Amino acid sequence: MTVVDLINPATEEVVTTVDLLDESAVDEAVATAHRAQRIWAALSPAARAAGLRDLAAAVDGNRDELAALEVANSGHPIGQARWEAEHVRDVLTFYSASPERLSGKQIPVAGGIDMTFCDPIGVVGIITPWNFPMTIASWGFAPALAAGNAVIVKPAEWTPLTTIRLAEIAEEAGLPPGLLQVVPGRGDVVGEAMLGHPGIGKIVFTGSTRTGRHVMTRAAESVKRITLELGGKSANIVFADSDLEQAAATAPYGVFDNAGQDCCARSRILVQRSVYDRFMELLEPAVAGVRVGDPIDDATEMGPLVSRAHWQKVASYVPDDAPVAFRGTAPEGPGFWFPPTVLTPQPNDRAVVEEIFGPVVTVLPFDDEADAIAIANATEYGLAGSIWTDDLSRALRVSRAVAAGNLSVNSHSSVRYSTPFGGFKQSGLGRELGPDAPLGFTETKNVFIAVGAATPAQSQRGTS
Ligand code: NDP
Repeated sequence: MTVVDLINPATEEVVTTVDLLDESAVDEAVATAHRAQRIWAALSPAARAAGLRDLAAAVDGNRDELAALEVANSGHPIGQARWEAEHVRDVLTFYSASPERLSGKQIPVAGGIDMTFCDPIGVVGIITPWNFPMTIASWGFAPALAAGNAVIVKPAEWTPLTTIRLAEIAEEAGLPPGLLQVVPGRGDVVGEAMLGHPGIGKIVFTGSTRTGRHVMTRAAESVKRITLELGGKSANIVFADSDLEQAAATAPYGVFDNAGQDCCARSRILVQRSVYDRFMELLEPAVAGVRVGDPIDDATEMGPLVSRAHWQKVASYVPDDAPVAFRGTAPEGPGFWFPPTVLTPQPNDRAVVEEIFGPVVTVLPFDDEADAIAIANATEYGLAGSIWTDDLSRALRVSRAVAAGNLSVNSHSSVRYSTPFGGFKQSGLGRELGPDAPLGFTETKNVFIAVGAATPAQSQRGTS
């Protein structure tokens, strides 16, 4: 076991230490999870629903503590961190309706009755990234628990605190001990042990496309079920017929929220050439207006990057000779601060092609609708995107033509717990959230019951 310091990204001070566990901790967690899962699955659907509602209420009661932990561990602005804790509560509340609604089907067949059951998979492993630690964990554990499974979460090394606390809250709220466990540790130790563990039936992974490919390969060894939520390089397409003031005012928030550490960040702004200059004039003050600063200040809109290592990665996309159009502000002194940055590079520049995962956006012009669609789709990713236009027909045409899982017209919304979320192409596999998510944590079992042939008397009465 190794003990590591967790660093506050806004101050570079040590927040606390955490023990990084090893393979034996995964073995132990899986054994405990199996015992807890049997107890959980044996409860009535109504009792499981009540358990999830109790957990939602407990998360609500601990909202401020969870938010403060996220501010200290991840550098998220306090207003955003409170929203994140509330979102976990809402996700749990939404899926608390599922245990009583996971009904199978009765299918007409010859010779008997056929019905399907939604059986839990058993133990589900969730591997989360550091950008939205508690919300992303909840997108996996809430529907997985609702479907009758036990869950083991491996949080990202840098940001485990809120996830650890959520598992404690689950036990305090009365869920069976061990039903929701957290095993902090390194990806190549704890993560690998989960991928290879025969007692884990499904892995939900969120993170980079590179690690996602590896997860898929390892899962294939035992045909583990997987859901992958991977990277993105989403386009924000601004047509000349849109409300340009609104498009420019909101564009910074479509990419710089969470300091750009967001798989749905609209990190490529595409602007119709005829309004390009005007859009840039409007964008400059909007970028300057993003309030970057102390995460504990309620007015702060953007905090620091998560770590020094990540800061260095982001900074590599803005070398001294980078085509910087303009930049916002950021505090000086300790902390992993990076100002919102707008680049106007060539279309094949690495800043346009690669996921930067920081507050850096590129702006490119396009000529017409076909050109916009071609540029938007010229990426291996396909997670999200925005389309700004006042022409409803165009909005629908372009929404259908952009190869991405989550599109919004005249807004930058991507994630609602009640609607499905996930990526096309190398942005992922499967969908999270929405009404069907619990089905992704079940195995469909089909049962046929032969019904004996009708007696002659029954046949005469028309019964069988
Ligand atoms: P990773 O994909 O490496 O990490 C995501 C999670 O996977 C972490 O919990 C990590 O653990 C774990 N992990 C790493 N290696 C393995 C493994 N071999 N087996 C099982 N689990 C593993 O992302 P990074 O944190 O390295 O970020 C790199 C880049 O990925 C970012 O700059 C960004 O571009 C992208 N990214 C995208 C995210 C998204 O939401 N789509 C989220 C995070 C990153 P550990 O923390 O110990 O490394």
